Amino acid sequence: MADTLITFDHVKKTYGNKQAVDDVSFTVNRGEIFVLVGASGSGKTTTLRMINELLEPTDGNIYFNGQRIKDYNVRELRLQTGYVLQQIALFPNMSVAQNVALIPSMKKQSKADTSTLVDQLLNDVDLDPQTYRDRMPDELSGGEQQRVGILRAFAGQPQIVLMDEPFSALDPISRTQLQNLVIDIHHRLNSTVVFVTHDMDEALKLGDRIGVMRLGKLLQVGTPDEIVRHPADQFVQRLFENSMAHDVYHVLLSKLAVMGYLQDINDSSTLASGEDRVTLNGDQTVSDALTPLESNETVLIQSEGGPTRLLTRDQLFKFIGDYRSH
Ligand code: ADP
Ligand code: MG
Repeated sequence: MADTLITFDHVKKTYGNKQAVDDVSFTVNRGEIFVLVGASGSGKTTTLRMINELLEPTDGNIYFNGQRIKDYNVRELRLQTGYVLQQIALFPNMSVAQNVALIPSMKKQSKADTSTLVDQLLNDVDLDPQTYRDRMPDELSGGEQQRVGILRAFAGQPQIVLMDEPFSALDPISRTQLQNLVIDIHHRLNSTVVFVTHDMDEALKLGDRIGVMRLGKLLQVGTPDEIVRHPADQFVQRLFENSMAHDVYHVLLSKLAVMGYLQDINDSSTLASGEDRVTLNGDQTVSDALTPLESNETVLIQSEGGPTRLLTRDQLFKFIGDYRSH
């Protein structure tokens, strides 16, 4: 059984006669990236902000670790919650290191431990600590600032990290890099993330599970594969039609690549025994495409114009185990 961290139980939020969130129920499992996706105004931000008590539900209950959120001490709850917004919110008068160390310091972790952690995190995201730890936010590019914002959210090892369209203001290259960073850091720290976006491709790339919202209602919750293959209704179907949803396999591969499970190989002309070749043609689902691994130890994956990559059955199982079991 999945280990539930957050439960929404018939939650409503109304503003006057406006139903911003309309009878929403779902759970977030410990260790997953749960994505809320939907058009602007569908109620995503309102849903997210009720998790850390920035907003209070009009009706229904939210549980965190089995206890009602309204019974928590707000400060205690916020210390357990990392928060990343679209508009970069570093403290302008604090250095990079001070920004990242904020929550660990508030949690009264030792200065030495915190300093080591900060350097390690900066290294992990290719910001050389020597160069970056004492810089001020206005001495960083937008992408670098958001990278530091992400580190700050994860640095206190909160039980949950909430991210509200954190990349929508960034250029596509920075966005891709930071999406990869989130997958990587989430995987490494075993954290739980609730990620809000209006971008279907981003939802499919990041989400272990996705909740689709429309006009305050939660239409469907499922894995990317389930949502694309069995959309709950025509609205969900249309939402994902124009995204790269038709190639869920590609999305899985990008996760595998980020996490180092794919090995680029140069000579793809010959197949060893026990190997099979899959050519990506855009119509496959994850299950279809991985079927060759039922009968072969190894699969060579080739996409048009891309490198040939090698995936073994062991690596796939390790990936699934690492990624889904916690
Ligand atoms: P999303 O994040 O999906 O864009 P929001 O949760 O911000 O959507 O908003 C959902 C709906 O609630 C929208 O119609 C919005 O106009 C409305 N809304 C949000 N906050 C308020 C508020 N403080 N007062 C009145 N209406 C609000
Ligand atoms: Mg919003």
